[in-house]
Amino acid sequence: MFIFKKSGDIREYLKTQAEQGLSTGFVPTMGALHEGHISLVKTAKDNSDVTIASIFVNPTQFNDPKDFKLYPKTLEKDIYMLEKAGCDVLYLPGVEELYPNGLPVNEHYNLGYLETVLDGKFRPGHFHGVCQVVSRLLHTIEPNQLFIGQKDYQQCLVIRKLVDLLNVKTEIIVCPTFREADGLAMSSRNMRLAPEQRINATGIYKSLIYIKDNITTALWQELKKAANEILVKHNLVPDYIEIADADTLELLNAPQNQKQIVALIAAFMGEVRLIDNMIIPLNFAPYGN
Ligand code: AMP
Repeated sequence: MFIFKKSGDIREYLKTQAEQGLSTGFVPTMGALHEGHISLVKTAKDNSDVTIASIFVNPTQFNDPKDFKLYPKTLEKDIYMLEKAGCDVLYLPGVEELYPNGLPVNEHYNLGYLETVLDGKFRPGHFHGVCQVVSRLLHTIEPNQLFIGQKDYQQCLVIRKLVDLLNVKTEIIVCPTFREADGLAMSSRNMRLAPEQRINATGIYKSLIYIKDNITTALWQELKKAANEILVKHNLVPDYIEIADADTLELLNAPQNQKQIVALIAAFMGEVRLIDNMIIPLNFAPYGN
């Protein structure tokens, strides 16, 4: 695996690959890699000739400085995992490489409704930070395909919007959420959980399953209340439990004409904020029909 730290160097290398007619698949990450990240790398490998991953803990997307400071770093292990997965190229830029004019960055993206709900509402500025880093990475790598995880559902919609705004040709491939055996969505932040917290963190998955299993029988307000009780029983403190249109993230209290919806949860386990979601197909007639 080639490792590049400078944008000029990786661009030069990728130019030689493009000249040979090879396609590129890109997996951006913040490191502290787990099997969820590796599943994206493997999907990229299956779909493109040259697989590129990046590791960069992007300061501009952290609304909480403590979360940024405590974000896990396991670079040696990450490199080992990427090599084992057959990743061809790792881009490992420093802050000065991506933000040569320093921080903070004054750059606004018109994300509309998406920046007003869910993580947009609870983590002010977060998605602008995501857009700032992803736009720079896309500009440097110019991948044919970008592989991102459904785990960060709203981020997927934001990145789709960004690609439209930037008018780039990159195709976006959303990959399924990789879970631990007990259902907990894999996340770099899980490394920060104490053993008992780690066990209780499954409350998020249990809440989502509860919503999914009862979506056709219960009123959704009641469903969200019951899901909240599951979280609380597991010592989780929710930011939100919502059911939304899977395409637009419009928040719903009852089905309208959606073919599928998504249940989304963000909750704190101690100081660690975890998110997860579940897409739920709706194959019943809306109330009143
Ligand atoms: P992160 O390093 O957390 O910024 O994540 C990098 C990419 O990996 C993003 O596209 C995430 O959505 C994706 N990802 C994170 N966790 C998982 C998971 N458990 N399963 C699949 N993809 C994931």
